[in-house]
Amino acid sequence: MAGTRRIRRVEIARFPQVHGGFNGRRRLVAATGRTQVINVFQPSLGERELAAVRAVFESCWIGKGSRVAAFEAAFAAHIGAAPEQVMSTNSCTEATFLAMQLLGIGPGDEVVLPTVSFVGTANAIAAHGARPVFCDVDPRTLNPGVEHVAAALTPATKAVLVLHYGGYPGQVAQIAELCRSRGIKLIEDAANAQASTVDGQACGTFGDIGVWSFDHGKIAVAVDGGMLFARNAELVEHGRKLAYFGLEQTSGYDQSMRAHTRWWDFEVSSFSRRSVLNDVLAAIGHVQLDRLAEFVARRREIVDAYDKALEAVPGVLVPPALPPGHDSSCYLYWVQLDPNLRDGVARRLHERGIYTTFRYPQLHKVRAYGAGDLSLPGAGHAGAATLCLPLHQALTDDEVDFVSTSLIEVLPG
Ligand SMILES: *Cc1c(COP(=O)(O)O)cnc(C)c1O
Repeated sequence: MAGTRRIRRVEIARFPQVHGGFNGRRRLVAATGRTQVINVFQPSLGERELAAVRAVFESCWIGKGSRVAAFEAAFAAHIGAAPEQVMSTNSCTEATFLAMQLLGIGPGDEVVLPTVSFVGTANAIAAHGARPVFCDVDPRTLNPGVEHVAAALTPATKAVLVLHYGGYPGQVAQIAELCRSRGIKLIEDAANAQASTVDGQACGTFGDIGVWSFDHGKIAVAVDGGMLFARNAELVEHGRKLAYFGLEQTSGYDQSMRAHTRWWDFEVSSFSRRSVLNDVLAAIGHVQLDRLAEFVARRREIVDAYDKALEAVPGVLVPPALPPGHDSSCYLYWVQLDPNLRDGVARRLHERGIYTTFRYPQLHKVRAYGAGDLSLPGAGHAGAATLCLPLHQALTDDEVDFVSTSLIEVLPG
């Protein structure tokens, strides 16, 4: 696409790891003539991020400070929220745990979530004594439809927790409507959806709380970090206390003078932990947020190239087209194959130095969540047929071509 600046591949160093060390690299060269493995996910970090980190080091303030505040404000603007509706955390998982506390989810409550979900979200529900209730997903988009969510609701349902699979918004607007009409809270795990929108509205802002991740595997990274949006700004105010030991006072000389206290005195309103971000990671995340649109534009080109190369190949289904008004962050690109062939294809691609994966294995099959023998056929089919191909902004056109050509070549018959 004209005008899209190419993102330099591994800007700091070009040493993707080849499993098996020297011999692994020799085998890869012998098999493919290539020395680089192709990662499923890969961050693009460069001189801008290093300069931002250097400035933090030179400021001698590496903890939570002005850079965290600036990153939060920039993220609030990015999702079209007010600054008071957004707080950062040290991970998205931690933000999800906070969301449970802020919404008062606990024993006796049920939280409905798609079985194709991230392990940390089900853990957040179970850790607060609530019951995760797994619903089915559409076999092609891997997102729950409003009918899947509706089928899992009971009088004990306190909240619904959805993710936007691979960045596809899914039926989040309709699910939000359903939740509102039933007086049920909606939490969005928008970790895949840093730049996804429906009719211009950011995913993560349709419900009561949205959470995002900036961990090492996401599109824009802070190395580690999370963001939390709450429609009700009072929840964020409470969340900020929960994220810092439940301290009632914010530190600071000026405030303590106003309150006629010493600035080292404190009260706690809850026995809470420490979930805050710091200025080093925020500085990285802020630069990456600035670059997010450029990353997504390049990922969209790659998605188009995969679609073009694969959509007419017998035995390969490419992701369904996005509905009008929906925009995806292009976090995952997935193909669907004959379930009897999927694992073998993944292994043969790996032999060529191409990593693939499946996100996210069905949680209702994890015994610890106690879901018993549920039958969720859409998720079952998707879990057996789906393979996520490499998708990151540093992939070259040549590598994208190598991936799709290889997929076609390793497919039997
Ligand atoms: C990455 C991810 C998370 C967790 O994010 P962390 O910041 O690593 O805690 C949660 N949900 C989904 C869908 C993710 O992809």
